[in-house]
Amino acid sequence: MPNKTAKKMPSSATRPAWADRLRYLSEHQNLIVQTIRKFVEIESPSDNKQSADRMASVLASEFEALGGHAKLHRSSDFGDSLQIDFVPPSRAQSANRRPILLLGHHDTVYPLGTLANMPCKVENGNLHGPGVLDMKAGIALMLHAIAALQAWHGGLPRPVTVFLVSDEEVGSHYSRKVTESLARESDGVLVLEPGAGLRGAVKTARKGVGEFTLQVQGIAAHAGLDPGKGHSAILELSRQIVALSKLNNLRQGISVNAGVIQGGTRTNVVAAEASVAIDVRIKAMHQAAALDRKLRSLKPFDKHCKLKMTGSINRPPMERTAGVVKLYKKAQEVASQLGWKLEEAAVGGGSDGNFTAGIGVPTLDGLGAVGAGAHAIHEYIVISELPRRALLLAGMIEAV
Ligand SMILES: [Zn+2]
Repeated sequence: MPNKTAKKMPSSATRPAWADRLRYLSEHQNLIVQTIRKFVEIESPSDNKQSADRMASVLASEFEALGGHAKLHRSSDFGDSLQIDFVPPSRAQSANRRPILLLGHHDTVYPLGTLANMPCKVENGNLHGPGVLDMKAGIALMLHAIAALQAWHGGLPRPVTVFLVSDEEVGSHYSRKVTESLARESDGVLVLEPGAGLRGAVKTARKGVGEFTLQVQGIAAHAGLDPGKGHSAILELSRQIVALSKLNNLRQGISVNAGVIQGGTRTNVVAAEASVAIDVRIKAMHQAAALDRKLRSLKPFDKHCKLKMTGSINRPPMERTAGVVKLYKKAQEVASQLGWKLEEAAVGGGSDGNFTAGIGVPTLDGLGAVGAGAHAIHEYIVISELPRRALLLAGMIEAV
């Protein structure tokens, strides 16, 4: 609850210089860590509605303590997604401005009980724990950036909307519509997913992501008595996987990965069924239709086998548009006030920023914590990076 400790500056005071601001946030570093720890210690796997709802309600009260108005977007299958609106006092000129959208997710990929083997702990200046980097630290940065701005200005300098979804790690199928409509009403979107690499570069491009499944239907036969009568779905699938691998074009940023295969029933049966789950990545939206067509027009090598391709490109790529570059330049300006050369990166992974950029709203991603090991047992954030990340976010809320 950062507001309880944030010292209010007299309203007549000029805005503190950037070095003072950084000092202020450095003094709050331990509080930021406490907030993150609190969030990490509430497990919130995407597939457990009860736990995710508990997370959402704790987050709602944290943001409400700062004066935000919380609204839950109910979901029957996943946790509720949480929207919090911060509106400056109506007398302020800035009250009529469009909000900036701070986007994140409060679900994690870790099943319930993970904390027992992967406790939240500080080690060598890093904070470890499930979902600490992706992205509970990012949510804590939102809270502390808002609290700091309130302390410095005596209130937020502009309207801010926070949206924390509960199904990001499983494709955001439920929350996508709300994310897109909030983005359309905003002046820009800041995504608090982790920065790229240990230098914490912001993300100005992300690949588009698709998931497909190829099912093969063959003809079963006894492998010993009637081997010639069967048409193996497994053999056909194997040949299709080779064909799929030829759709890769890394130079153009297209990748196609046959990730999970299934098929067959017994060793002495020529397999009647087999399937493969495929992950697809594209760099630019114009690549989507052609790749989709190629995937759907695969022909069986064995005429007795049938193929069925299902799936789609779920997240459009976040392309480095002029709007994205403009936000990046602003972030660089803010960072330069601290003598910090903020880098940019293009990454293969998708986020909800893909949706908002995909509908043409200026989006900057990777503004969250710095660390490594997202989705892995060694996931951690670098504690000493927290103050300037919070300051960068505060500066962006002011500047955009
Ligand atoms: Zn994430």
